[in-house]
Amino acid sequence: MLVDTHCHLDFQQFDADRDEVIRRAGEAGVQYILNIGATLESSRGACELASRYAQVYAGIGVHPHDSRLFDRKAEVELRELALKEKVVAVGETGLDYYRNLSSRQEQISAFNRQISLAKELDLPLVIHSRQAEEEALRILKEAMPVRAVIHCFSGDENFLKGCLDLGFFVSFTCNITYKKAQGLRDMVKLTPLDRLMLETDAPYLSPEGFRGKRNEPFQVKLLAEAVSLIKGVGFEEIANSTTGNAISFFKLR
Ligand SMILES: [Zn+2]
Repeated sequence: MLVDTHCHLDFQQFDADRDEVIRRAGEAGVQYILNIGATLESSRGACELASRYAQVYAGIGVHPHDSRLFDRKAEVELRELALKEKVVAVGETGLDYYRNLSSRQEQISAFNRQISLAKELDLPLVIHSRQAEEEALRILKEAMPVRAVIHCFSGDENFLKGCLDLGFFVSFTCNITYKKAQGLRDMVKLTPLDRLMLETDAPYLSPEGFRGKRNEPFQVKLLAEAVSLIKGVGFEEIANSTTGNAISFFKLR
């Protein structure tokens, strides 16, 4: 059994065939799907999917791109959404200094407030960090103790070590299969199996051979196979450990 710990099935790319996508995932052995919120609206969508499908769980949060929209009102609504059944994380939240769609100040403020919310609600954080590793780590360190997973890991060995030292989990997407992603594959090698999780980030980041197409949660199987090859560990062991990590980290049941 496998878990896709991060995808966006509430997005309109899935409007035409969402049932089918979720069925296909189940057939590929995906036991649970975590639909992660990126905006208030998509956090609502995540909760709605979680209530409709037994295998879907929700994260609620505002992506760093949309930090400028994270006001008091948004915070109040996130807090309300968090009370719903099957909400298992706050996120995605964090910093994105690659695209800078919100100012750094807005990103840091929204990040800090979502960290506080996660602590208040006793939920783990799903962290998005792109070209902001040092700052993200500094903020998280200050906020300890927190439980966090670094989603779509794209940092270097220093950042990886910093995250592991704080007890965080690291999750990898299908971009580890890209020809030019040897650096990422090295990070997969360095991540202990008891800290590693899998995610598709669908509809984004389709694996090599499917690039340009919409990604789907069933591809987490291909991802597990890739990790198995990179680490030289059997597929079953990869599936068992990553699934066990997801179940205990997000308290899925
Ligand atoms: Zn995402």
